Amino acid sequence: MKRILVTGGAGFLGSHLCDLLLEKGHEVISLDNYFTGRKTNLAHLQNHPRFEMVRHDVIDPFKFEVDWIFNLACPASPIHYQHNAIKTIKTSVMGAINCLGLAKRTGARVFQASTSEVYGDPDIHPQPESYWGHVNPIGPRSCYDEGKRCAETLFFDYHRQNRVDIRVVRIFNTYGPRMLADDGRVVSNFIVQALRGEDLTICGDGTQTRSFCFASDLIDGFVRFMENESGFPGPLNLGNPGEFTMLELAEIVLAKVGGKSKIVHHPLPQDDPRQRRPDITKARELLNWEPKVALAEGLDRTIAYFRNSETGKG
Ligand code: NAD
Ligand code: UDP
Repeated sequence: MKRILVTGGAGFLGSHLCDLLLEKGHEVISLDNYFTGRKTNLAHLQNHPRFEMVRHDVIDPFKFEVDWIFNLACPASPIHYQHNAIKTIKTSVMGAINCLGLAKRTGARVFQASTSEVYGDPDIHPQPESYWGHVNPIGPRSCYDEGKRCAETLFFDYHRQNRVDIRVVRIFNTYGPRMLADDGRVVSNFIVQALRGEDLTICGDGTQTRSFCFASDLIDGFVRFMENESGFPGPLNLGNPGEFTMLELAEIVLAKVGGKSKIVHHPLPQDDPRQRRPDITKARELLNWEPKVALAEGLDRTIAYFRNSETGKG
């Protein structure tokens, strides 16, 4: 049994991670400032004897005697991370420094939730870990993209300079139950719009692509990588290589939910990446990992979750 700190533990991915770690018999501390996370995501764990919740901001230093640290604290949806851009970059950079300082002192293994956004608007497709990316350093997405890139730099510098045991994962778009209905990410937006009978808002002409991974597959990859004793620090792509245009996604959601919603087009946000698909060769080789949940099945489960929460049953 390990004692594990999960920053961002009350968020969409963090809460699923807490569930899996507890299922595996570990002791878990969630640290969160509840900016985009919710206590309700963890309400079912409140009386769990191996679980604790701490309200804290990763920008401020913290001390815990732990064996493992998962650093997930950071708003992930464009509308939330652009709401206070300076706070977003501080969260990534200072959160990384605080996690790494703690890992250095305690000898804990530390995991960084990095992102496919480090590849920016990629001109290599699909994206392998060796690709350095194509990122605008001064645009509206930069607080997130460059914050995550700087966090990666810090992780590798602490690894080289202080021999901190790191695991850096680059997460491609992930969806599933416990996403916020109003956080603006495309899968939750389309599902909630269709369930409410509103029109589905496609940004631009809808030919841009993304690859969507179901949350349980991703979290399984996180834990496999943390358990891996090869010493490989990353970066490691985790995501589902199935690639869809936003038009295709909208049509699949409409076919599944039914109703009268139509597709409408909104302007494409600045610097919106044209295409994204992970090359997961490394994860296959190192962890024997690949996603199991196809988009159709993952959407069914996510639609069921939002159907319940929209009708007050969730
Ligand atoms: P989320 O917004 O649901 O979760 C982020 C959590 O971090 C929330 O609980 C939030 O309250 C907390 N948080 C934010 N700022 C904080 C701060 N300063 N101090 C303490 N807590 C803070 O997002 P998510 O989708 O669960 O993403 C989790 C992590 O995975 C993030 O680091 C994100 O960048 C990364 N990621 C997610 C995706 C995805 O598709 N879901 C893709 C790439 C990377
Ligand atoms: N998008 C869309 N309609 C929406 C929300 C997003 O067409 O209501 C598009 C967005 O412009 C982008 C893609 O869907 O091209 C994925 O957006 P999301 O914010 O989910 O993730 P990210 O852009 O960070 O990959």
